[in-house]
Formats: sequence, C-alpha cells, structure tokens
Amino acid sequence: MKNYNVNNEGYYGEYGGAYIHDSLKPCVEELKSKYIEVLESESFKEEFAILLRDFVGRPSPLYLAKNLSKKYGCKIYLKREDLNHTGAHKINNAIGQVLLAKKMGKTRIIAETGAGQHGVATATVCALMNLDCTIYMGKTDIERQHVNVEKMKMLGAKVQAVNDGSMTLSDAVDAAINDWCENSADTFYIIGSTVGPHPYPDLVARLQSVISEETKKQLPMHEGREYPDYLIACIGGGSNAAGTVYHYLHDERVKIILAEAGGKGTETGMSAATIKLGKEGVLHGFKTLVIQNEDGSIKEPYSISAGLDYPGIGPMHANLAQQKRATVFAINDDEAIKAAFELTRMEGIIPALESSHALAALDKLQFKPDDVVVLTLSGRGDKDIHTYLEYK
Ligand SMILES: *Cc1c(COP(=O)(O)O)cnc(C)c1O
Repeated sequence: MKNYNVNNEGYYGEYGGAYIHDSLKPCVEELKSKYIEVLESESFKEEFAILLRDFVGRPSPLYLAKNLSKKYGCKIYLKREDLNHTGAHKINNAIGQVLLAKKMGKTRIIAETGAGQHGVATATVCALMNLDCTIYMGKTDIERQHVNVEKMKMLGAKVQAVNDGSMTLSDAVDAAINDWCENSADTFYIIGSTVGPHPYPDLVARLQSVISEETKKQLPMHEGREYPDYLIACIGGGSNAAGTVYHYLHDERVKIILAEAGGKGTETGMSAATIKLGKEGVLHGFKTLVIQNEDGSIKEPYSISAGLDYPGIGPMHANLAQQKRATVFAINDDEAIKAAFELTRMEGIIPALESSHALAALDKLQFKPDDVVVLTLSGRGDKDIHTYLEYK
C-alpha cells in the first residue's frame, strides 16, 4: 500500500525534507527528536483536548447544508471550523505548538504572518499562557492588515515590521528564521501551515488532524458510516486540508478534492495556483512545487484571498496531487466570490474568502444523489466583508 504520510527521511514522495542553513540544524533537530514523543504523551493529549473543548469550542459541528445539497444533488456536510474561537482552524495548530513549546522548556514564542490570521491565533494563545510573543510581519502586510495588527498588539504581542525585499510574507519568514537561529535556547518558532522544513509539515498535520478525527465520529450519527465519498478543502499552505483528510488518507473509497487559488486565471500571470503552475524547487526550507519566473526565482503569487496567496504548497499536498490521490482545481477570484454569496444566501453562513474556494469546487464535480460530501469551512467571513462589499 502507498504511504501518503511523511517517511522516516522527512519526505512525502519527492517533496519535503529539510533544506536549511547549518546554523539552523540544531533547532530543527531538537524539534524533530522531541515532537512525536510530546504529542503522544498523555499529559499533552489531555491539556490539548481540554483547551480545544473549552477554549476553542470543539468539536466543531458537522452541519448538513440542506439547501446547498439540493442544489448540487448530493448530501453536503460542512465541517464548521468557522465557529472556532478566533474564527478559523488556525487556532488548533497554535494551541498545539504553544503546548509543545512549553513542554520543551521554551519561554519565548515567535511566528511570522502574512495576512495576520496566524499571527492573531498565535498571539491569542500566548496571551492565554502568558508567554512572550513576537510576530514578524512585512511592512506592506502591516499596512494592508491593520485590524489584525491592532488585535495582536491588544493581545500583548510585539509586531516586528520587516523592511526587506518585497516586505511581505517571504521576508517575514526570513526574519523569523534569523531570530530563531540567534535565540534558539529559549525560543520556539511556530509555523502556521503544513510548510517549512521537516518536521513542521507533519507536526502541523497531526495537530490539525482533530478535524478528521471528529468527522469520523460525527458522520455515523448522520449517515451510518464513518467515511464520506468526497472530502473538499481549500489549500494555501495546506493545513486545513491536511486536517480534513488526515484520517482518511489511506481509505481509497474517499475522494480528495483540493481547491487552490486561481486568482485572475491561471493563464494571466496573476495566480496562486501552485500545483497547476509550479515547478519543483526549494522554498522556506523544503522541496515542493513553487511558482517561478523563467530564471527560477520565486514569482509573487496573487489571489483575492490573503490566506491562499502563497508561492508554494505543503509537501503532503504536492505528493497527493502527483500520486493522483487528490484532484486539484484552480478556483478563480470571481468563482470564489460567487460561491461566498451563494452560501450566504442559501444557508445563512458568510464564509471566509479562502473557504469560498472550496465551496466553488462543488460546481466542478458531478455528484450522485447518495453521495456524501464533507467540505471544510475553514473560517468565517467577517474579515473579508470589505472585499465582499465591492462585489455586492
Ligand atoms: C490561513 C487560512 C487558510 C489557508 O491556510 P491552510 O494552511 O491552507 O489551511 C484557509 N482558510 C482560512 C480561513 C485561513 O485563515
């Protein structure tokens, strides 16, 4: 049987690994040698479970969306990550990594953020646990994401502006890595998606796997079976999708559908459809598909959705696509907007722009009436109201 999880060398098929500077190797090695032991310890599991229940509000409901189901001619269940505290799935990972950091004896947390969602989730958990928190953010992003910056500050985090390069996410990653190298004795670096050098993609996938763990328990109450015919999720770096599919990866009865951001169209040069457009390359410490210019340099991606605007993709997902275990659709901005308004009017739920890409994938599939579909609604749309208003 094929293995879709990470192997002992830190690879998913051809993708993944740890392509890092020598100075960073000891920190990554320390993490690699400890994370599984901590995650599998009873004390971690218990603290994580209690916080997910009482702080985040889990389990998130598995909601049968009747009106949407009728339209698409199948049974569509929404996994409601939008109902989590702070409004998305990112909090699951932030809590897990902060707990891991504490168990490893670290007292200072750093992270980088582009759109600000991961920064807010991290600052939230650091406030809860009274930990020193620094968030690196490109100056351009600080100007674009004013509300999230103010939230992080209110939560007690230091927001460190990065003035190098294009002053966006990639530059913030470099700054955070430098900090980690210099302060690794007391500092833990929290990565927000299934990206970065091994073991981060596996660590984040394990922490988000609570999503499919719950689906497996919830689906039998509705359908009398624990597996759906389809799982659908959007992919930026890939963490909500990894959590959605984790416990079904090797169940071939379950089709996996991933929605990446097509932007203005994959032919236009303004896209973040990494799997469709990317070539093999190394980005942020791991081998994956990367959107590149002719000379091999990283091309700035574009999407209407800040959370999907990443030039790479998690190694797990690059491999799932290559092995044809997953079907990937590039969803354009206008298709995502249409799907957001559709869900809002049909079900009374305003979705995050990222999640709207997953919803738009429904229109690309042909269902049978008995098909059971579980679609992860990764977040709520409050943060995207300004964008939606431009299209009303
Ligand atoms: C950050 C974000 C995403 C994209 O990140 P993944 O790691 O691919 O899940 C998707 N949806 C929402 C609501 C987000 O905030």
